[in-house]
Amino acid sequence: MSQAVEVQADALVPRHGDPSYGVEHYDLDLTWKHLGNHLSGRAVLDLVVERPTRRLVLDLHALTVGKLSVQGARLAQWNHRQGRLVLKLGSELAAGSRVRVTVAYAGVPRPVPGPDGEAGWEELEDGVIVASQPHGAPSWFPCNDRPSDKATYRIGLTVASGYTVVANGRLVEKRAASSRTTWVHVQDQPMATYLATAQIGRYLSRPLNGASVPVTIVHPARLTAAVATGFARQVEMLEVFTRFFGAYPFDSYTVVVTDDDLEIPLESQGLSTFGANYARTDWGAQRLIAHELSHQWFGNSLTLAHWRDIWLHEGFACYAEWLWSEESGGPSAAEQARRHWTRLHAQPQDLVLADPGPTELFDDRIYTRGALVLQALRLTVGDAAFFDLLRAWVAEHRYGSITTADFTAAAAAHSGLDLGDLFRRWLHQPKLPALPPAR
Ligand SMILES: [Zn+2]
Repeated sequence: MSQAVEVQADALVPRHGDPSYGVEHYDLDLTWKHLGNHLSGRAVLDLVVERPTRRLVLDLHALTVGKLSVQGARLAQWNHRQGRLVLKLGSELAAGSRVRVTVAYAGVPRPVPGPDGEAGWEELEDGVIVASQPHGAPSWFPCNDRPSDKATYRIGLTVASGYTVVANGRLVEKRAASSRTTWVHVQDQPMATYLATAQIGRYLSRPLNGASVPVTIVHPARLTAAVATGFARQVEMLEVFTRFFGAYPFDSYTVVVTDDDLEIPLESQGLSTFGANYARTDWGAQRLIAHELSHQWFGNSLTLAHWRDIWLHEGFACYAEWLWSEESGGPSAAEQARRHWTRLHAQPQDLVLADPGPTELFDDRIYTRGALVLQALRLTVGDAAFFDLLRAWVAEHRYGSITTADFTAAAAAHSGLDLGDLFRRWLHQPKLPALPPAR
């Protein structure tokens, strides 16, 4: 009889994550074979115990564990069932204990099913994308899959020469041996598991000049012209957001455009991925190019501690779209807000923004209403105080974990106003409030 593991870190993404420890560093050495989409290698996790425990639970989906070893604790036994790799220890570990877990594993990675669909490692026509939000990280490496556990990474990935690998952080090594090439990326800033990614394809890589950090665009040769046009304003966008939100949080920004069309673009730490269908100049594509970039501040540097606070990512990214609309000569943020308020008002008002259910995690209303909260706040505190607050929020919580309560406290502290009623109505009650008059 197998028993499901009850350990749970987040109510909206059940059966992922272990609150009893935190990972400080992931070291991955993986080999991917195009034929059969086969992944093999080993992961070394350096972790610190946060509460006394006799077991450590890792998440790993569909792949098979070959060998497992533990340093810093005695491993009594382990088992791997239903995506949970459970390490039973010979004695209780005290908080603060440091443990190294090494897992050798192999198999055919598959996206992880969840309440809002599949996520994770996904084969393309000729390559791979990893789109892990919110629960897909265990599709390619063993991890403590809760968003509040942020760690540094070294991601080594060996693929057939001819493919390009893009992963999070700096490319520190590219080593060719016979028909294979190893790409090593290092992510020095703490990163949540769902933001870890590897993008593999037959790509060209081209720098975009003029930004305050290196910006690179990676794409198949056939899309050169479309990408040059579609992403022509990427650098300008980055500079505009730097002005609104403060310094870009990471060492570089990379845009990957896949040869395949993709249903939606996605953000990862330090990079974003777009399908070929988004290399366009119309607002429908441009707003998403802005949206994904803004997640570097809102989602990647500042990351929710619990998935119920998803509006702290998506509401802010949606508001960034409106800011870019105004900056790029489109409707003003205020005009965008009025239009979206009207649209939202016509929809069912049965969603609590600060606590959506597991199937509403990426409901369109989270994005729009989340952005409207910011417009309501801006109208209440005034433009200068609003943008000061945004920059202070980003600076004070850089690379950290955040909650709704952190944000409302920061807003009250920076504005000196009692915003309790405003946030209660916008965040904690389902009925859509009217936008307040301008201050
Ligand atoms: Zn988003």
